[in-house]
Amino acid sequence: MATDCIFCKIAKGEIPVTKVFEDDYCLCFPDIDPQAPTHLLLVPKHHLMSHAHATVEHRQILGHLLEVAAEIARMEELSKGYRIVINTGPDGGQSVDHLHLHILGGRPMTWPPG
Ligand code: 5GP
Ligand code: ZN
Repeated sequence: MATDCIFCKIAKGEIPVTKVFEDDYCLCFPDIDPQAPTHLLLVPKHHLMSHAHATVEHRQILGHLLEVAAEIARMEELSKGYRIVINTGPDGGQSVDHLHLHILGGRPMTWPPG
């Protein structure tokens, strides 16, 4: 756990959020600044700075997050589709240094992203 990490604090329950999904390994909650009708964040409970810091030891949690994201998309009835985004590092637009999946849906997405 990183003591000054906002997503670690959320994962520990120190900052209250509306829990969309939770299990032993991850937590999903609404983004504070939604960019789509559905905009959720899915974070591992253990601190991992970014996707760029992932190694073979994170294989299980990375797979778990993608499987849970599909479950959440079904729960949220995003049957027309959705987008999963993992902003990574300064060029990737990452603003919180704790790995997180954005789950965006409820409107058509454009491509390429900005
Ligand atoms: P990033 O820019 O790193 O890909 O995404 C970070 C996301 O976290 C942003 O979309 C931002 O709105 C969201 N965020 C930042 N602080 C908080 C917070 O305290 N609570 C919630 N729910 N979302 C946050
Ligand atoms: Zn953290």
